[in-house]
Amino acid sequence: MSFFSTRGGCCVTASQAILQGLAPDGGLFVPAMFPQVSGEKIGKLCGLGYQERAVYVLKLFLEDYSIPEIEADVAAAYGEDRFNDPAVAPLKKLDDGTYVLELFHGPTLAFKDIALQLLPHLVRRAAEKNGETREVSILVATSGDTGKAALEGFRDVAGTSCTVFYPLDGVSDIQKLQMVTTGGNNTHVIAVKGNFDDAQTGVKELFSSAEFNEKIHQTGRVLSSANSINFGRLVPQVVYYFSAYADLVNSGAVRAGDPVNFCVPTGNFGNILAGYYARNMGLPVNKLICASNRNNVLTDFFHQGIYSTHRTFFKTISPSMDILVSSNLERLLYESADRDGGLIATWMRQLKECGSFSVGDQRREWMGSVFWGDCADDKDTRAEIRNRFDQNHYLFDPHTAVAGHVLREYRKATNDRTPTVIVSTASPYKFAADVLASLTGEAGTGDPFSAGEELEKLTGVPMPEQVRRLRELPVRHRRECEKNAMGEAVLAELA
Ligand SMILES: *Cc1c(COP(=O)(O)O)cnc(C)c1O
Repeated sequence: MSFFSTRGGCCVTASQAILQGLAPDGGLFVPAMFPQVSGEKIGKLCGLGYQERAVYVLKLFLEDYSIPEIEADVAAAYGEDRFNDPAVAPLKKLDDGTYVLELFHGPTLAFKDIALQLLPHLVRRAAEKNGETREVSILVATSGDTGKAALEGFRDVAGTSCTVFYPLDGVSDIQKLQMVTTGGNNTHVIAVKGNFDDAQTGVKELFSSAEFNEKIHQTGRVLSSANSINFGRLVPQVVYYFSAYADLVNSGAVRAGDPVNFCVPTGNFGNILAGYYARNMGLPVNKLICASNRNNVLTDFFHQGIYSTHRTFFKTISPSMDILVSSNLERLLYESADRDGGLIATWMRQLKECGSFSVGDQRREWMGSVFWGDCADDKDTRAEIRNRFDQNHYLFDPHTAVAGHVLREYRKATNDRTPTVIVSTASPYKFAADVLASLTGEAGTGDPFSAGEELEKLTGVPMPEQVRRLRELPVRHRRECEKNAMGEAVLAELA
């Protein structure tokens, strides 16, 4: 399988796409075609466990990785020392026709673990396959969740190191504690005296600075990135759509071949795009419901066919979806444009220069036949957390609750009774104070540990070990730096 750039050129192998991350023309790598999985094959997946399902789906795309290599990497990523549920991504029933796919059983309690536990192994092998003998040094700027997931994924993976920058006063107490207590001999965490934009801009500048790259090369390393546009983060996510479908068939909720919907809390469009890829591969998916919070740029896009970043940015109680530029959307645009890279390059230039582009009515309708977009504000989100707990005795985190609300609205608007899977992206204990406040209607004290304990008492839903342990873990990372001195800080860490 070769990979092309969404902006035209390029023809690389899977391992090259993973090692490079972004195509040289600024586009995203996409597979040359979608391998087909027949109904019979899907039937076979039903008899397999998560790891075996993963090996099957991954191999379809990762042609230059051998099956024993993929098996070893999948075992390292999804073992029981990493995921606190042997099913890895278990499916739970809410009511007849509504299911929850729990993607939060990994080390950092959010869905990014599914991809970031596997990616480091894929990167290490990609380096080997392409004669890269230097250590692959990952740099990440984070507004909270991605940083910790990357640190846990790369922790002690030979031939790699991972350095995360976070804004000193821009992450929650729990998120900060999660990062600065990270173990491992190849993990580095640096607080930037600035906001998230400063950290992100700083990292981008380091990647493009010839002088900084040269200094890194002198230490026997080469820079790489782990952000969500890397194909190596997308492909592990395709797996759980197949896995969820197999579990639905196994439980008798649907018959093999019957359609299902997925409702996905969306920010950067990576998670839901993986569902679209699964659909293109033959998984019987009817609608992909794209749920946004108050930063509803995608809702407007699916309704109007116009993507516009001329809007106010809101901070919400579902912070991992507070995004105005959904970078993975480019891969859907590419399919909508019949893989015309020149057209994508034009739209992306318009987005950069004018803050918007329009895909036209025909393409909007084409996308509308697969996607449905809607949104929930914080008030809707809180009400959904309370209602689901009252009705189903199931505790949503705020991101998942956005999807829960949007699914109700979708059903009201369309009367579609297709069985639907809500994709759950985080443990409620990661956002305990807001979840507790949603249930009680009172503003919490703000202390996340006592909020977690109170939540456990109130709901009986057990608090994950990772949260409990966090209180006792020693702080291992204390470095801070000015926003214009991030390069020096990296070199000091790696020295
Ligand atoms: C990253 C994240 C999302 C958004 O996923 P995208 O792939 O960026 O659309 C939703 N919920 C949680 C908890 C996340 O961490």
